[in-house]
Amino acid sequence: MDMKIVLLGPPGCGKGTQAERLTANLKFTKISTGDLLREAVRLNTPLGQQAKQFMDAGKLVPDELVIGLIKEKLADIKGPVLLDGFPRSLEQARRLDELTKIDLAIDIGVNEEKLVKRIVLRRSCKNCGAVYHLEFSPPKVEGKCDKCGNELYQRSDDTEATVRERLKTYNDKTLPLANYYKQKGILRTVDGEGDISEVYDRIVKVLKAK
Ligand code: ADP
Ligand code: ADP
Ligand code: ZN
Repeated sequence: MDMKIVLLGPPGCGKGTQAERLTANLKFTKISTGDLLREAVRLNTPLGQQAKQFMDAGKLVPDELVIGLIKEKLADIKGPVLLDGFPRSLEQARRLDELTKIDLAIDIGVNEEKLVKRIVLRRSCKNCGAVYHLEFSPPKVEGKCDKCGNELYQRSDDTEATVRERLKTYNDKTLPLANYYKQKGILRTVDGEGDISEVYDRIVKVLKAK
């Protein structure tokens, strides 16, 4: 069966990291709205021009823009799908349900101060989007991506001030989604603390139980 899975959880909980592993090992295709939006900003497309101010401010990009993006991507993909960072509002979740059937929502929980530490020391690959952490998951060669050799950079929104804003946005707009999926009986919560591979094993367990 072609499962469609939503990864929920606050900024820095490990959605991107776990999505990367799941796509590498279990043949999921990942859709990350954060990656897609950063690409649009980099290419200075009309979408990127509209999205940039919201991303810099730690706010959600307007639902209409993000839903348009997801609609396009979902139509292109066959096989199991992993949604990383979408939906992030009730409106997005409702619209997603009109587009396709979601089988599971996996909510990754991490204490707030740990999230801040994860995010300010995050480094990302400019080329392939792979994610590192200066302390918890450093690249083999400083400043270079293990996967493609390109340069690592710090996202402009990965500063402490913007992270605090993103956490507020999360608590306001995204947290209610857990209840939305709980009521549908498809919410699973996973402890996001501990090693990356421990968290990965917890997620795989949840997938296998489905
Ligand atoms: P999200 O996509 O949810 O914002 P990321 O996957 O980008 O989160 O992870 C945020 C940062 O925390 C990255 O620097 C990543 O390397 C690091 N990280 C991810 N999972 C863990 C973990 N289990 N323990 C410690 N650091 C982690
Ligand atoms: P993280 O999980 O580390 O907070 P993402 O890379 O998922 O970061 O998202 C970065 C930014 O892109 C968000 O702060 C927000 O401005 C925008 N964004 C990403 N996904 C969405 C979405 N589904 N709806 C609205 N804005 C989004
Ligand atoms: Zn890379």
